[in-house]
Amino acid sequence: MGQATKMGFSLLGIADPGLFERYPRIRKPAESEKYWPHPHEIWPECRSVVVLGLHCREEVFDALVRMDNLWGSFYYEILSHREYRLRDWFREQGCEARITDDVPVKRAAVLAGLGHVGRNSLVAHPQHGSNLRFGLLLTDAELAFDEPNDPLEPAPCGDCRQCEDVCPGAAISNYRVDFSRCIIPAAGGWLSDDEDKIREARRIQQRGGVVEVECNLCQKTCPLNEAE
Ligand code: SF4
Ligand code: SF4
Repeated sequence: MGQATKMGFSLLGIADPGLFERYPRIRKPAESEKYWPHPHEIWPECRSVVVLGLHCREEVFDALVRMDNLWGSFYYEILSHREYRLRDWFREQGCEARITDDVPVKRAAVLAGLGHVGRNSLVAHPQHGSNLRFGLLLTDAELAFDEPNDPLEPAPCGDCRQCEDVCPGAAISNYRVDFSRCIIPAAGGWLSDDEDKIREARRIQQRGGVVEVECNLCQKTCPLNEAE
């Protein structure tokens, strides 16, 4: 963790790439016929999956929602920059490391022991809740694996359904998000004709005058974030 902390990551977890094969595959959002590959299918020599977490302050998410053109990519830019620095550090140590967005990042975070998936389909970490963004590195370095969590065991939502109730697209059910109903891809073009959802999101977020919509309501409402 020391090197990852120096480079500005808040969390680090190491998952066994072989573990991914023990669980059902996950469908890719918006591509209902396609499934995420396992790490060994991407790179057979991969020996460790490095899951990097960046803690994001809720206030900044709120600001991003109001700043239409930045969307949520702000944190991903930071994450990506730091991932490249860590990848280069691995290479300096004589190991190969590859940044990937082809492995299901939430499954990887769970298998690296960093939390469980809640009804809002986000990984809830015991300390930071879902106020996190994750990145992945595959490496041929043999690292010590963290104690994995069970992907089939959900986050402790109990009777709470706040994320389902608050969602303007009624997109959340059974621990999954229907991305054909989520207003973020709607604004990206998949449902760009669905002006009602966009207007509703604007009303809820007290904004107006733009087509692009960012939304963090299912994340913002979650009581599992309150451990921070
Ligand atoms: S981001 Fe907004 S619209 Fe999409 S699932 Fe969450 S609450 Fe619903
Ligand atoms: S808002 Fe409630 S139901 Fe949704 S993920 Fe958080 S705890 Fe679970």
